[in-house]
This record gives sequence, structure tokens and C-alpha cells, in this order.
Amino acid sequence: MARIAVGGFQHETNTFAPQRATWADFERADAWPGFVRGAELIDAVEGFNLPIAGAVKTLQGLGHELVPLCWCSAPPSSYVEREAYEKVVGHILDDLAAGGPLDGIYLDLHGAMVAEHHEDGEGELLRRIRALVGDRMPIVTSLDYHSNLTPEMVRFASAMIGYRTYPHIDMAATGSRAAQLLDRLLKDRRPLYKAYRQIDFLIPLVWQCTLMEPAKGIFALIEDIERGSAVGLTGAGAPGGSHNQGIVSITHTPGFPPADIRDCGAALVVYGHDRDAAEAAADRLAAVIREREAGFAGKLYTPDEAVIEAMRLAEGAKRPVLLADVQDNPGAGGTSDTVGLLRALIAHRAKGAVIGMIVDPAAAEAATAVGEGALLDCGIGAKIGYAGEVPVEAAWRVVRLGGGMFTGTGPMYGGAKFRIGPMALVIDEASGVSAVLAAKRIQAVDQEMFRHVGVEPALVPILALKSTVHFRAHFQPIAEAILCVESPGAHVTDPAQLPYRHLRKGIRLSPLGPTRE
Ligand SMILES: [Zn+2]
Repeated sequence: MARIAVGGFQHETNTFAPQRATWADFERADAWPGFVRGAELIDAVEGFNLPIAGAVKTLQGLGHELVPLCWCSAPPSSYVEREAYEKVVGHILDDLAAGGPLDGIYLDLHGAMVAEHHEDGEGELLRRIRALVGDRMPIVTSLDYHSNLTPEMVRFASAMIGYRTYPHIDMAATGSRAAQLLDRLLKDRRPLYKAYRQIDFLIPLVWQCTLMEPAKGIFALIEDIERGSAVGLTGAGAPGGSHNQGIVSITHTPGFPPADIRDCGAALVVYGHDRDAAEAAADRLAAVIREREAGFAGKLYTPDEAVIEAMRLAEGAKRPVLLADVQDNPGAGGTSDTVGLLRALIAHRAKGAVIGMIVDPAAAEAATAVGEGALLDCGIGAKIGYAGEVPVEAAWRVVRLGGGMFTGTGPMYGGAKFRIGPMALVIDEASGVSAVLAAKRIQAVDQEMFRHVGVEPALVPILALKSTVHFRAHFQPIAEAILCVESPGAHVTDPAQLPYRHLRKGIRLSPLGPTRE
């Protein structure tokens, strides 16, 4: 039995987004728990599809004694404010110092945090922890698929274990894998060799999905290499064999492009006991990703094209046509209140269409105040003013109200206790287009968000979702077709359009795209 400190600090920072992450954003609950510290952490995270939950369960199952630190996350946004960063990091360091003798540390990190005063939020956190606990303490972290994995993070952590799915259905499972690796490091006491590579092109989120190529095949290859069954690897086993010559674990993070930092982008790290085998596997994987560069591409529709095509496809279809509003994804720093797609639905009179979530606290509260059946006396959306839009004025009738408290049922957010109220379903009767209003920024990823205000997603002809990829976990199985729409939003799909200042030179700004000079 070992004494293991467990905690987490998650943020995905889109430095081009309009809203910053404050301490209050980390403190309050959304789909995930709010800030928790000490003994309450263990119960607070139980049952969530979160890395910390998987790690805690696995470490307890292995008989280890846990020393809870703190855990918190905030919705993806621009920079984490200095005060918030220092407060959370201060708690982690204080609790490590006061936690008594420790054998290891597990941390649930996202890996793409940019603070106002540190462009590598996790690298700086790990540097300070290392300075406190020394070089020999095993520190294992989990990482989001969208981590911008930096050399400092790799250097200061003993090992980092990334998700392998996008949509992220393996969050708790990744925490469990990280816990198993920590347990292994504690038992065999052999240092891990690290082979780290950065990929020299940025990959837009929308083409990083593991339900499709090339990401699907790349992650299948990673598992083959770990199992020792990959063909043609120097130092790895024969086809079908189980001998992988000491490769312990591989993490590949396709990256989070809208972050104006030096080490933005895809990277990978191979951990192993055999230096040559780890280096060879890292070279092979990096080469395979580069070979498939052109495959990270697909069609994006303008809002008008998308609505016209969706109305055509919906005719006679028994299942909904989905429109993914990929640039206004609040899960990537979007405001979830832009109205380009909503206006196109209304303009084309896409009767029966529903869009969600339009995050507009004032409109959601106004709907609650006037009550079901009444008309709203305000426009909806575009309150943040990103892209210079204005709220959509119409005779919005309140159909259904909700308190915003419900439990997710999808593969990603199943068990998550949403606290995003108040909510409302409103309809513009002239066009037949409805919108789901919410008060807190949350990505349209779980069907319960719609059921909560009386909409059964499978029965809607056209369903527009503020999401880039995560919606696919719960919505793709009920979809007739999926069209990705390029409407205004703070998660700009094509990184070549972003005004980077700090990104390293020589990297291509998109697959086969221009090179940063
Ligand atoms: Zn992610």
C-alpha cells in the first residue's frame, strides 16, 4: 500500500476567445462538480465520467491510501486569470506540503491551460510540484485529447496518459489507466525513458474525431504498438506477437489549435524501458501522422448551404438531420450565443428545426419571468457581441421552462449532474424554428439537454447543435446525416485565420497549410 495524493486542475484555454476564466468559474458546478478540496473530493467526483473519478476508484481498488488535494475545472474560455491560477496552484502546493509522507502523486490535468502570466499552465504547475517533492517522486497525470503537450510537461511529470477518443468517452478510463501506471511505477521502481515528438502542423478540431480517419487509424496503430503487434517497427515484436520490448505507454495529443503559445499543436510521447524501442516507436508514429496530413480535411457548409441541404435531406427522412455549428462550440471557448445559423434557419423557414443551446442568461430569465405560453419581450442570442452580431428579434413564444437541473444519459456525460438553469424552449411561430435557451455555457452534447425542455431529439427534423465533435457520441446514432457548418464563432476552425504571435516558427498553420514564418 502506498500513500498517493490525488487532485486536478482542468482548463482548456482558447486565447482568442472573448471571455477569461475567473476564480468564480472554477468554483461553481456546471456539468461537473465545482471546486472541491480535501476529504470531500472523493465523494464529489464519484460516478462522473472524469479522469479523477476513474483514478480514485482504481487506486482504492489497488489498496492505496489516498490523500485528496483539490479538484476543479472551468468551462473552456480565454486565459485563466492570474488570481484564479495562483489560488488553485497554491492550494495544491500547500496540501502537498501538509499531506505527510507521500509515495506518489496523481493529477487530473487537461493539458491546454494558458494563464495570464504563464503560457504553459500545466508545465509551470508541474515545475513547482517537482521543486517541492523532488526528482524521485512518481507523478502521473491524465491528459485531455486536446492537450498542447509541451516539453516542460513531459520533463516534470513521470508519465502523462492521454485520452484516445474524441468524442471523449474514455475520460474515467484514462484516469484508471494513469492510476495503473502509477501503481506499476511504484512497484517496479524502474525509471521510464521518454521519447517526445511535436508534429509540425496544426489539426483543426473538427477533423480530429476518432470516429473517422485518419485519427481512427492512428489511435488503432498506437494500441497495436503498445500490444507489440505493429508491423515494421524497429525494436518491436513480430506481427501478432506480444513482445513490445519494453514500451510501457504511448500518449498522442492532437492538440488544441486556438492557443497562442509556442508549443501549440499535436505531439506524442512514448514511455518505455528501452530507449531505442521508444525512439523508434516515436519516429514511426510521427511519420504516420505526417503521411496522413492531407486526410485531416472535410466539407464545411455556409449556414445558407447547410440549411438548404438539411431541408432537402429531411424531406421523407425518419431521423433528424444534424447541423453542427462547429465554430461556436462553448467546449472550445465559443460563446454559444452567435446567431448566424439561427438566422439562416429562420430565413429559410426550416419548420420544426430546433437549435441549442443559445446561451443567453438574460433571455432565459426573461422567459422564466413571463412564463410558458407568453411572448418574450427581447431578442435572443448575440449578447456577448462576438462577430458584431445583434440579438435575433422575433415573436418568441415560451413553450417550456426548465430549471436546468438534470442528469446526463449519453456516453460522455452519462451520470453528470447538470446545473445550467434556468432554461427555456422558445419558438418563432412565423418560421416554425425553435431555440433552447440556457443560462450557463455548456456544449450541446447530451440529449437530456433537449428533453429537459420537452424536445425529443429523435423526433426533430433538423437539429442544430453548438458543438464541434462531442455531440457525435450521443447524437450520431440517431442522425440521418450530419453537416458541419462554418458560422461565426470564437472557435475558428481554420487556424491559418488566427493572428498568432507566440507560436513557434516553421509549423504549418493547418494540414498542408501555410507555414508560420
Ligand atoms: Zn478535449
